[in-house]
Amino acid sequence: MLPCPSYIAGEWRTATGGTPVFNPSTGEVIAECPAGGAAEVEAAVQAAAAAFPAWRDTPVVERARVMFRYRQLVEENFDKFCQTVSREHGKTLVEARGSIFRGLENVEYACGAPALLMGDTLENIARGVDCETMLQPLGVCAGITPFNFPAMVPLWMFPLALVCGNTFVLKPSEKVPLTAVLLIELLEKAGLPKGVLNLVHGGREAVDAILTHPQVRAISFVGSTPIARYIYETGTKNGKRVQANGGAKNYIVVMPDADVSKTVESLSTAAFGCAGERCMAGSTALAVGAAAERVLPSLIDAAKAIRVGPTDRPAQPDMGPLITAPHRDRVLGLVASGESEGAKVIADGRGIRVPEAPGGFYLGATIVDGIQPGMTLAREEVFGPVLNVMRMDDLDAAIDLANRSAYGNGASIFTNSGKAAREFKHRVKAGMVGINVGVPATMAMFPFTGWDESFFGDLHIQGRESVQFYTQQKVVSTRWFGEGVGDVWKK
Ligand code: NAD
Repeated sequence: MLPCPSYIAGEWRTATGGTPVFNPSTGEVIAECPAGGAAEVEAAVQAAAAAFPAWRDTPVVERARVMFRYRQLVEENFDKFCQTVSREHGKTLVEARGSIFRGLENVEYACGAPALLMGDTLENIARGVDCETMLQPLGVCAGITPFNFPAMVPLWMFPLALVCGNTFVLKPSEKVPLTAVLLIELLEKAGLPKGVLNLVHGGREAVDAILTHPQVRAISFVGSTPIARYIYETGTKNGKRVQANGGAKNYIVVMPDADVSKTVESLSTAAFGCAGERCMAGSTALAVGAAAERVLPSLIDAAKAIRVGPTDRPAQPDMGPLITAPHRDRVLGLVASGESEGAKVIADGRGIRVPEAPGGFYLGATIVDGIQPGMTLAREEVFGPVLNVMRMDDLDAAIDLANRSAYGNGASIFTNSGKAAREFKHRVKAGMVGINVGVPATMAMFPFTGWDESFFGDLHIQGRESVQFYTQQKVVSTRWFGEGVGDVWKK
């Protein structure tokens, strides 16, 4: 069993028992994630609160330098990170690499803290009175993260929160706690003072303790929509700032004039990359007019060619397993519901066999055609390697359908027509839009702009919005009394 300690006030604490952490490639239990609960959260928040005054008063360039060193350390330990993410989550090494790079970009962004935290000044707003804004930290912030990006999502949060001068409590998903342990080990090596970042484990009890703790000022959350809504409602009711990213169902419109091979490649990656376990997965293709006949044959071939297998060994597959057996079974149930409601499975990954790892939680790439609005598969987030296909008469119908979704994370269009692309980006109701881009997930310098049921809050994660989220503005008006120094402009 691998150790899964928590980290409080600069001390690693081990506990026994807890929920099993699987290697989804084999089905083996590799660790137990302890349920720290309310007592652990209390200790972590106290440690963070005690560390806050000194950290707040640490010059911003010194806070940023910790992140420069951290970036270097993550890069030096890149292979270890990729292996840890692959082993506890099941991403291929290539996918793990890509996701950690995306996370590192957030560390790089945080290294720019001295520029990001500059305020404004305006002299002589009234006679002899100058005015300035200062961005000051909030205090103790917390992050609660999902299973699907064990390194990237925590890195969306704590680097920026810390350089802004806050202290932090991180509670990762109990399904993937080991990457978080590695993230914190390196932060300790980078020289972060004790108590500035604390790691707690557990599920609902730990989350509720964070949500109700009077000393926690702000909460960043990423996870499913029902829990995101709960976090937002409970957190704000308890007086906290909350930014809560939820689930998604992302549409990809394929126009009849789209480039076939590029569209097939992008659709396949968007739907089946990371085994479909990402909030920006392109889970429904809206094929307009002749697009279905042009694209589907090659798309079916592409899906059938995806090699599924274990990600925890040197020979790498194209796609790894799903996170747990119950999750795989849920996805299988959704595909079955599509069939029973009249849709047709045109690429079937259900019978996949992986003889070298028979205990793993595998499902092959699956395409379901003839999906109609109202079907369970059309409504629910699947979070697996399943692509729905819906046939549309024209672009108007496709946009209208996409806009009826409860979610609003991402939406893409594949076309050679500037007019169609312009129409789409103007009218579609989603916060991240791709034009001939299948996964329009934003990079660190841009906010991750989910809309509707994909986001609860006002200020999104990443970029300048997150700087605003992790700081409070102070406006100072200054006037000095006494003799004037004369009118220098007269000379
Ligand atoms: P989840 O909602 O089950 O869990 C997320 C976090 O909430 C975990 O830390 C978990 O311990 C905690 N949690 C779970 N149940 C809870 C409860 N009843 N009360 C309090 N806390 C609880 O999500 P998941 O399955 O880990 O992750 C997948 C989901 O995350 C998908 O819906 C996906 O779309 C979403 N996601 C969204 C984004 C985004 O940016 N919008 C990014 C990644 C993942």
